[in-house]
Amino acid sequence: MTEDQNPARLGEFNHSSIGFLPEYAAAAKALDDLIKAMQEKELFPLGQDEWLKVVRDMTAAIPFSDCCDCNSEIYISGVVPTGAKIERGWVTGVYICPECRKRWTCGWSLTVPNIQL
Ligand SMILES: [Zn+2]
Repeated sequence: MTEDQNPARLGEFNHSSIGFLPEYAAAAKALDDLIKAMQEKELFPLGQDEWLKVVRDMTAAIPFSDCCDCNSEIYISGVVPTGAKIERGWVTGVYICPECRKRWTCGWSLTVPNIQL
């Protein structure tokens, strides 16, 4: 199959074991909202491969979320790294608070994420 015939690079999948969860739909809606925000700010188009890498990296970085102390909701839900540098088993996450725009870095062991997937 050529790229023109499948520009989304959709492969076969079955997420039925989790797809009924409202959070699954909410995550898809959030990603769609992100695409629309990027389009509004003319940060699109990313190529499909680059977009899928953004989603993959963001998802893999969730266990390394950190907190900003400006807002209790952000403190609870956490801020996912917007970048990461990995050296010798250590990840340095780069964070930008979506509420106050504060930027910071935080280091984590790659083997000790906040949650285990
Ligand atoms: Zn903040």
